[in-house]
Amino acid sequence: MTEIVGIDLGTTNSLCAVFRDGQPQLIPNPHGEFLTPSVVGILENGQVVVGAPARELRITRPERCRATFKRDMGSGRQVLIGRQTFSAVELSSLVLRSLKEDAESFLKQPVHEAVITVPAYFNDLQRKATRQAGEMAGLRVRRIINEPTAAALTYGFHDRTSDKKLLVIDLGGGTFDVTLMEVFDGTLEIISTAGESHLGGEDFTDALAASVLRGRNLDLEVVEDESPLLVSRLRQECEQAKRRLQTKEEVWIRIPDRKGHVGDNDPHSAVRVTREGFIQATKSLMERLKEPIRRVLRDGQSGPGDLDEVILVGGATRMLVLRQFVTDFFQREPQCRHNPDEVVALGAAVQAALMADDPALGDMVMTDVCPFTLGVEICRRFGDRHNDGYFSPIIHRNTTIPVSREEAYFTIEPNQDEVMFNIYQGEGRKVKDNLKLGELRVKGVPPGPAGQQVNVRFTYDLNGLLEVEARVPQTGKMFKTLLVNNVSLTGAELQAAIARMQALKSCPRDEVANRQLLLFAEKLVGEVNKEERRGLEQALDQFEQALDERDRGQFQHTRQGLLLVLESLGFRYEENRGYEDHDAGDHGDKKTDK
Ligand code: AMP
Repeated sequence: MTEIVGIDLGTTNSLCAVFRDGQPQLIPNPHGEFLTPSVVGILENGQVVVGAPARELRITRPERCRATFKRDMGSGRQVLIGRQTFSAVELSSLVLRSLKEDAESFLKQPVHEAVITVPAYFNDLQRKATRQAGEMAGLRVRRIINEPTAAALTYGFHDRTSDKKLLVIDLGGGTFDVTLMEVFDGTLEIISTAGESHLGGEDFTDALAASVLRGRNLDLEVVEDESPLLVSRLRQECEQAKRRLQTKEEVWIRIPDRKGHVGDNDPHSAVRVTREGFIQATKSLMERLKEPIRRVLRDGQSGPGDLDEVILVGGATRMLVLRQFVTDFFQREPQCRHNPDEVVALGAAVQAALMADDPALGDMVMTDVCPFTLGVEICRRFGDRHNDGYFSPIIHRNTTIPVSREEAYFTIEPNQDEVMFNIYQGEGRKVKDNLKLGELRVKGVPPGPAGQQVNVRFTYDLNGLLEVEARVPQTGKMFKTLLVNNVSLTGAELQAAIARMQALKSCPRDEVANRQLLLFAEKLVGEVNKEERRGLEQALDQFEQALDERDRGQFQHTRQGLLLVLESLGFRYEENRGYEDHDAGDHGDKKTDK
């Protein structure tokens, strides 16, 4: 039997899961972790590094690595790594390829099919881009489902007996979704959903970094242009500080120098940040969370008091400020019965099991909605004038999917033989406030007075993908969508991109672990005193040489030597755990550093 894996392709971390023995279960990566950082590095020799080693590499070599590229899905933006350019789709495909390989070695069989999750607020272009990333990774994408829906599936799967109304608040690294749903008789019904595709935990980290620099009269963007190493390391410091503020009232953030080095014992290079300071620095982000929550409740004709549970999903919901805000807003403690990092991937595996008719699911059913309004641009008549730029909805937001709706439109000029339909998504009355998805040119409207009819049909499928057709009733002629925001690849372009990605070989797995150690130790060179530095550099040189020469005998020996030096300097290196995860004491406490 071929397995369909469930993949949570996250902004910060990605996970893969499979439904086995009546349960969804997570698949570990070669480091034994379930979370694979969504970071891609391209080494000088052209090899690809994905996950924790790439995240490490990013600190010392930000120009060779890319993270948070999910935010650029569907935009057509290209980034340069070394001498090659990559789109977000291509970078995402490398993450998916790595997860696919992990699944194959875990399941001991080839994996060709996947359910991939996307933020509910991902638009049509972003969804198509996600599907193409899957294809580039050699995966047939059987279904794209919304992240909060996947989270709801995990909750629904484990708690199918009680009827209740739930609100899922999903704040990941880069996106925010809120979903209202109801569980009754084993059916999971999504009632309404809302969100923002550019608001997540990374913005909180950036806001903290910006406020630290502001305290020194510096502007984050200006500093990033001039000293990217400083900012990439400062982000690292702020990320740790953000996490430590959960348990501490105040933390210290070390400000790196221009080369990204942080001094341990220089009190002038560290700033103190209190919980209150963090709240102030992120106030405007917290404000932005409120509107989607209000809208989802309004659309679902519910108030905060009608909910049986508020569920938190996504790594960034661990922030104390977020939890406090939710508790105040709903006057109740939020629930977090399943690990917020894992619940989406597990739900994707439940969806895969639903598609495979796994008997463990009994007659469980799930219905989802279209998260935004879809329609076309029209002209409005004011006296004898026509003004264009108005939005005519065809599928209203929060309509249950799949859905197919047809509307009739009419020519405005005598003998008008052509009509151009501009297709939009959004809630604005005027199209300038909405997102253009494409256009459809209808030719051959029969001659006659103004008012000749053209019917437009929108079909929104279970993957959240839109198809548009137009029909001239008098002639029966049909027309199909033509995408103008030409970010979707044509068949030939996709094949070329697949070949290009296949040519990029993954860095061998054992080498990845060694590179990770190398990067970890390299980072410490700038943090130790000059006597310590000499010994460390020597051990590093020997290890690097053994690695470069692929001398297996030597690299075991030199690796051991390097680990001993690190230990003697008071740095405990834990294999396969990034520096980012460390929960160091406050500044200057290198003994607790990993
Ligand atoms: P996700 O995309 O769901 O993996 O969420 C990643 C985001 O969660 C990142 O912005 C992290 O900084 C944030 N995050 C993860 N763990 C914590 C934590 N313990 N405290 C605060 N933020 C966290």
